Amino acid sequence: MKRALIVGAGIAGCCAAMSLARAGWSVTVVEKQARWQFHSSGIFVYGNGLAQFRELGVMDDLLAAGFVVPGGRNVYFDHCGTHIADVSYPTVQGAPAILGIKRAEMHRVLSRRIEALGIMVQLGTTVAALEQDEDGVEVTDSHGTRARYTLVIAADGIRSGVRSLLWPQVQPAYSGFGVWRSVHARPPELVDKIMLMGPGKRVGIMPISQDKLYVFGTIAEARGTWHDPAKWPATMRETFSEFGGPVRPFLDALSDGSEVLYTAVEEVQLPLPWHKGRVVLIGDAAHASTPFMGQGGAMAVQDAVVLGGLLAQGLPVAGALQRFGELRAPMCRFVQDVSRRVGEAGARADAQSHRDNLAALPTGAQGAVDGFYAELARLVAS
Ligand SMILES: Cc1cc2nc3c(=O)[nH]c(=O)nc-3n(C[C@H](O)[C@H](O)[C@H](O)COP(=O)(O)OP(=O)(O)OC[C@H]3O[C@@H](n4cnc5c(N)ncnc54)[C@H](O)[C@@H]3O)c2cc1C
Repeated sequence: MKRALIVGAGIAGCCAAMSLARAGWSVTVVEKQARWQFHSSGIFVYGNGLAQFRELGVMDDLLAAGFVVPGGRNVYFDHCGTHIADVSYPTVQGAPAILGIKRAEMHRVLSRRIEALGIMVQLGTTVAALEQDEDGVEVTDSHGTRARYTLVIAADGIRSGVRSLLWPQVQPAYSGFGVWRSVHARPPELVDKIMLMGPGKRVGIMPISQDKLYVFGTIAEARGTWHDPAKWPATMRETFSEFGGPVRPFLDALSDGSEVLYTAVEEVQLPLPWHKGRVVLIGDAAHASTPFMGQGGAMAVQDAVVLGGLLAQGLPVAGALQRFGELRAPMCRFVQDVSRRVGEAGARADAQSHRDNLAALPTGAQGAVDGFYAELARLVAS
């Protein structure tokens, strides 16, 4: 039987495990965390990602654990809370337009599924060394155990250890943005995804369950900016102090003990090919993006589905990995480029750029969303 080692049990790794098991492979997953624990408040997944989760049989469980935004509605305000525009995100192949979910809940669903499939997961384990020959990969893990695999899939995220073994020259690059996130009780009437567009900053609100929502704020910051974690709630409140409207009560509520997370955002651009011999990188390890399009998770699950589909066709491993990179790179690059442009447009803090951004929203935003999804569909088809 063909044997795959998957390194990393995040979205890409868990989904690759499901996808390869479905293709008839024997799968082992190693994850460096000693127990399942996922920081960060919430994540939103758009219809293109949900349709891929449905392929793997987990969409309904994710929908039950999170919050589906009615009508895929995204409501825009200026930073004072004046309403500007409503935009509807599309359903994709019958999958809902937007799901908000706690990351820990998402990983509870994914990890339960791989356990139910009988896939072996070794927590507290990583890869220490890899040696390849024509027929396979000899892997030494962090406990010194050696095993041989037909294929190694590195799904170990933005700071991929496998990437640093095989592509040491490819490093994450600072994007120029910091992102703040906090979790709050959700008032029952708050059901939309909300964006407040401020001069040089943006704040969003996203429901993630029947009783919780998360607030996220983005700001352009110089490389090396550091914020003391002990003061994160107060720093987030001050950073976005000019914002009012629907976000004001949540910012005012931030205090010591609030669930707040700050991330200095990085990107990864791995040139093709995304494989060396029988080792391939997927997800953030290959193409981490800025989060302005909320597409990193969708790209990770789609990598897994596409790779499993190619391997199920019985192609030789080298051919399948080559085709995988060629199929996935254009879409991942497109998402990275659009996301970076959206971030840069929102970061312009001068009064004229801010006025231009707001003026473009009422007529332009729905067209931009529709155009983005039309291009994603074209890239899938091509
Ligand atoms: C601020 C921010 C907000 C975001 N918001 C969204 C959003 O709303 N929607 C969305 O779709 N995307 C969002 N993203 C992007 C999304 O989080 C990522 O694209 C996605 O998590 C990538 O999944 P992954 O499995 O490739 O990597 P990860 O989720 O990072 O998983 C990697 C796994 O590998 C493990 N690991 C790491 N190193 C090793 C090693 N050496 N050995 C073994 N295991 C290892 C890690 O512990 C982890 O479990 C956001 C990103 C950021 C930075």
